Amino acid sequence: MAKSCSVCGNKIPLGTASKAIDGILCVNCLNLANGSIMTRNIPKSIQEISEYYKINEERKKIFTETQTLKNFGSSIVHIDNNNRLFYINKTEIYYSFNEVVGYTEENITGPTITTTKKKGGITRALVGGAIAGPIGAVVGSNTAGSTSTSSTTIQTKKYIEIEDYSGHRKVFILPPKGLKETIEMWTQQKEKKQSNNLDNIEEIKKYKELLDMGVITQEEFDTKKKELLNL
Ligand SMILES: [Zn+2]
Repeated sequence: MAKSCSVCGNKIPLGTASKAIDGILCVNCLNLANGSIMTRNIPKSIQEISEYYKINEERKKIFTETQTLKNFGSSIVHIDNNNRLFYINKTEIYYSFNEVVGYTEENITGPTITTTKKKGGITRALVGGAIAGPIGAVVGSNTAGSTSTSSTTIQTKKYIEIEDYSGHRKVFILPPKGLKETIEMWTQQKEKKQSNNLDNIEEIKKYKELLDMGVITQEEFDTKKKELLNL
């Protein structure tokens, strides 16, 4: 009998359930809760993950694609530039541009593989047992020595780093053309926005002083404040 996910209520296909502290999760809800930890036991409560689920559902509702980044063999990045949201492939996990920390490429050295090639490759003993057969032709080849070659594999891992409600996560990706530049743009916009906000708060403080000094009225101050806070 199929079990239901404690967060979204969807039926969980056999053998794919993961555990939260006090319930079980489908693959989608696991991914929402996961952050960067690749594990099937999540040290989070169903209530906590339900909060993530709510945020994600709200983003899903308003998402309207305005741009798609893809090319042959790449991940597909679906973007909504108006709501500043995106998701990758068919994941249904919606990230805000503001949550993007950056794009990272990391070289990871894999195991060194040594291949030893024996010339001929057949032992004398075996050959000796089949004197009359066709493999008699390689008699003695094992004494001719062997050659070995080693190679080290280097893998490049590419991912988008995200700081969202669930913490820090690495979203692995086969980057489509233009992704790096797009992400740089998002992070720059975020920094600019943050510094603008700080400037505006300073500005409001100045107006508050003017209000306290009686230079401007409460009404004038309120209007200015609303304007600066984008209310
Ligand atoms: Zn679920």
